[in-house]
Amino acid sequence: MAGEPQDGCLFCKVVAGRIPATIVRETETTVAFRDINPQAPTHVLVIPKAHYENAAALAVGAPEVVADVLRETQAVAESEKLDSYRTVFNTGAGAGQTVFHVHAHVLGGRGLQWPPG
Ligand code: C5P
Repeated sequence: MAGEPQDGCLFCKVVAGRIPATIVRETETTVAFRDINPQAPTHVLVIPKAHYENAAALAVGAPEVVADVLRETQAVAESEKLDSYRTVFNTGAGAGQTVFHVHAHVLGGRGLQWPPG
């Protein structure tokens, strides 16, 4: 069923505490943790606790949680003392999505180029 934990999903395991993660913030509906392969001095992932494959699926299945995730990206930026940062949702393997549990990358602490690669 939409939103339910999925067997084999890495980020559902983070939510359940079944694999280690450096958690920086947690709310009723979200978890924020440090990316294990950081691409910037600050690289935090914000995920909904509910399992949805990508941002669009989350928007359809639990629209209020999209707002929760975005509020948490700003909360992470504030706690990391970032005055500017980038929020990225990769959708699909061709765009670089490797974990199919929606996550917002929060990247900051260095200059970021545009367009991204
Ligand atoms: O957007 P994409 O799906 O590629 O992002 C997945 C991210 O999850 C990667 O940046 C990867 O380093 C991170 N990751 C993690 N902890 C894991 C597995 C992957 O932080 N256990």
